[in-house]
Amino acid sequence: VQLDFLPGGRLPVPSGDQVIGPLNTAIVQFRALGLPVYATRDWHPPMHCSFKQHGGTLPPHCIAGSPGAAFPGELALPPDAIIVSKGTQAGSDAYSGFEGTGMAAMLREAGVARLFVGGLATDYCVLNTVTDALQEGFGVVLLTEAMRGVNLQAGDDEAAIATMIEHGAAPCSMPPPAKARPRHAQPRYR
Ligand code: ZN
Repeated sequence: VQLDFLPGGRLPVPSGDQVIGPLNTAIVQFRALGLPVYATRDWHPPMHCSFKQHGGTLPPHCIAGSPGAAFPGELALPPDAIIVSKGTQAGSDAYSGFEGTGMAAMLREAGVARLFVGGLATDYCVLNTVTDALQEGFGVVLLTEAMRGVNLQAGDDEAAIATMIEHGAAPCSMPPPAKARPRHAQPRYR
């Protein structure tokens, strides 16, 4: 979730900003359980091959170190979040967070067996990241409320979710914000 992918950015995903709230909810809950948070990001050199003027199809976006490549300030990434940069070489692109990043080894090293995934965009980077994760043997839970699609064709996002489920991912509805559901709430009897 980077500024260039949000409304007003250089390669905006419609309603992309709506993933921030649900992701923050998930982050709070993971931190409360002492579980690690990983954030993948496009981190392209200025002459990246996905850019129109360098043979690709996309407007320049997420150029390493540029304001548009930053995570939005509203996204409550913890200070120890593990940042995984992809598409860092001019000659190759990566939709998947696993492509050329060493993330699979990194996750195994950390003892991670299952991933809860949200982000942008459902029908591109989320789809490719999730199918690679399953291919690498990780379990995957889809935070469907915390993803939005580009939908070049109407319904691309739903088709992507169906594909991810077909490959073995499990969809999951977000629980309400942690505050609204205290862990030791007692029923009230009067
Ligand atoms: Zn890119």
